[in-house]
Amino acid sequence: STAIVWFRRDLRLADHPALSAAAKGHEHLIPLYIHAPHEDGRWPAGAASRWWLHHSLSRLDAQLREHGNALHLAQGNSLDVLRELIRRTGATAVYWSRQYEPEAIARDSAIKAALREQGIDVHSFNASLWCEPWQIETRQQGPYRVFTPFWRSLRPQLETPRPLPVPSSLRGIDVAGSMPLDALALLPRIRWDTGMQETWQPGEQGAQEWLDIFMDDAVSDYARARDLPARHGTSRLSPHLHFGEISPRQIHRQLADRVADTDARRRPDIEPYLRELGWREFAHHLLYHFPRTPIDNFNEQFDRFPWARKSSKAIERWQRGLTGIPLVDAGMRELWHTGWMHNRVRMIVASFLCKNLRQHWHHGAAWFWDTLVDADLANNTMGWQWVAGSGADAAPYFRVFNPVTQAQKFDPEGHYLRRWLPELASAPLPLLHEPWKDASLLQRSGYPAPMIDLGETRQAALDAYRIMRNA
Ligand code: FAD
Repeated sequence: STAIVWFRRDLRLADHPALSAAAKGHEHLIPLYIHAPHEDGRWPAGAASRWWLHHSLSRLDAQLREHGNALHLAQGNSLDVLRELIRRTGATAVYWSRQYEPEAIARDSAIKAALREQGIDVHSFNASLWCEPWQIETRQQGPYRVFTPFWRSLRPQLETPRPLPVPSSLRGIDVAGSMPLDALALLPRIRWDTGMQETWQPGEQGAQEWLDIFMDDAVSDYARARDLPARHGTSRLSPHLHFGEISPRQIHRQLADRVADTDARRRPDIEPYLRELGWREFAHHLLYHFPRTPIDNFNEQFDRFPWARKSSKAIERWQRGLTGIPLVDAGMRELWHTGWMHNRVRMIVASFLCKNLRQHWHHGAAWFWDTLVDADLANNTMGWQWVAGSGADAAPYFRVFNPVTQAQKFDPEGHYLRRWLPELASAPLPLLHEPWKDASLLQRSGYPAPMIDLGETRQAALDAYRIMRNA
């Protein structure tokens, strides 16, 4: 019999429960990818994600070809595409990995019901989380809203089973009519992607290489180095995780093996890293249980927050890294150039937008959505609501990051600032952290004066918060 394996955000061959089950139960497999951005509701993939997707699909196809199969590409309504393929090939079953965004859940449920009605077997699997959102609940049998108890409940459940190997046979059948990848037009027409090209290797192999590098070096110093944007101190696996090129289970297993293989005195402490992956699980838990939060404030009190009027001009300066605040600008330019930004810097640029500029977090989330290669509805929503103060277990509102002291603390030598702000590359410390203190430096370098006063806008943000609280 023949089965369709519908790839979505599980673009790998190893540790792929749907692929393994299909290979076990059927002689022939049709690996399928359907391009259907209209099915993502308000959240079709942004430009950076589309770039990643293009290359990841290309890699997946190459891997499948090494196994004597190929990726069938199609475009249109997913149900129509599946039905047409079933009609043409006589496939009797469809396999996929579950997603947790509200639009995807609604679509998948409808497709499952429709296919089953016509006698097709449908099997779905968890391929991207340690624990699915409904598997973990509070003592009152509700969802968690605070991370620490969530993690306390999840951590002991983490098992390290051997990840599934690539199935030994992925035999396919000839299916005509696959679209060429270029026809999906995922790549930008104006080639602004050189920085991403230089930085990333989308696909399963690229993910494994990053993980190896991280395990060889940064993992043992992660708890400290993860806060230093100039260092390669984090795993940079976020886009690979988003597109399912590696699973948290594979990461956990490999880390656990590494710990077991290392001499007790030099054994890396992997807990801080696992905990970050726990935040990712928490974000998915929240999105599943509170599906309106990509738009609505998690904390309804913030519906009354007096945001400043939308200023396209201010937002644009922020987007382009021309605010005149070095750490904010460095982060925004890193994002534009590479499609990624260091976590600490994400918090700082987000705080600057929401608090110093008092622009609604939606504007920041939308820009990140378009420019991050790891743009992920669960993580991005949680990240922005956390910084804005409106989220579950959010930073307390009065915590307004000071981008100057943050830079002094986490980029004391200014390596990160110099890397991303070439016009200040030769500025001496401590001026590099506060270039406005030397008017001639600004003039010589062309670096802008600060668009706002950090102290005044901080105070205005706290006043706005008080107005909301008293309303
Ligand atoms: P590592 O430190 O190596 O962590 C390993 C993995 O854990 C990450 O790949 C990621 O999957 C997960 N993780 C780590 N920190 C977090 C976190 N705070 N929340 C959720 N998961 C986490 N992450 C995204 O993947 N997509 C987003 O769209 C996204 N938007 C964000 C927006 C804002 C405003 C903020 C403050 C954070 C956002 N994050 C997002 C979370 C975090 O910044 C990134 O996951 C992290 O920087 C990715 O780098 P890394 O893979 O080297 O992380």
